[in-house]
Amino acid sequence: MAEIKFDPTDLVELQLIENAITARHSEIKELEINKPLVEAERELGGAKENFDKASSEYRETDGNRKKLEDQVELQNEKISSNEEKLFSGTITSSKELENYQEENEILKESNSKYEDEALELMELLEGMDKKVQEAKILMGGKESEVIRIKNEMNEKLEVLNNIVEGLNKRREEVLLRIPEDLKKKYNEVKSRKGGIAVSVLKNFFCSVCNMEIPSSEAEKIEDPDEIYKCPLCGRISIVYRKEIDKIEKELES
Ligand SMILES: [Zn+2]
Repeated sequence: MAEIKFDPTDLVELQLIENAITARHSEIKELEINKPLVEAERELGGAKENFDKASSEYRETDGNRKKLEDQVELQNEKISSNEEKLFSGTITSSKELENYQEENEILKESNSKYEDEALELMELLEGMDKKVQEAKILMGGKESEVIRIKNEMNEKLEVLNNIVEGLNKRREEVLLRIPEDLKKKYNEVKSRKGGIAVSVLKNFFCSVCNMEIPSSEAEKIEDPDEIYKCPLCGRISIVYRKEIDKIEKELES
């Protein structure tokens, strides 16, 4: 098949390297899809929403409490000013005195009502504040979870990208050792056979189709340095040798 004598192991090595590259690429793809990250980000979104809701409820209630206190303060000022007038001795009309007294009574009554309402809101606010703090802690936890997953993903991606870079270099080196016609044949079989062009014949079994080579065909397999074709799956077949195990082990790590 080949005009230049070369080591058929190189063809197996090329196949194994390309298998490893494909496997790493799917690992990279899986990492980039990152279901745990998507889930953590979704949970963080929910936690943020809860926190915002609890915070705005707190702010709204606190605003209402403040309004009541402002109102009480305003009415207290009015009461004081009324009292000043009452005790200034400048008012001579008893009707006018009565009006001021009456107004102050109404104001005091209204203030006591407002103060009660403000107190109730204060109690509510305590519970609301607790809810806000809890939501904040939960959100913080989700936030660190997202950051943790992202960091972990980036670290793994860096490692995988380095591995792929190394594999590509090794692939280029192997390609230099393979004759052009064999490379052409390899690519042709690869595109026809789902990406796997090379199989290894061990004890007359094909490593890819897992079938035993019929004895009539097996008889022809004599030279371990020759390149054969699996009569069953049609792939380029190389007779097993120990170096193949070594290459497989290297590519595993
Ligand atoms: Zn086969």
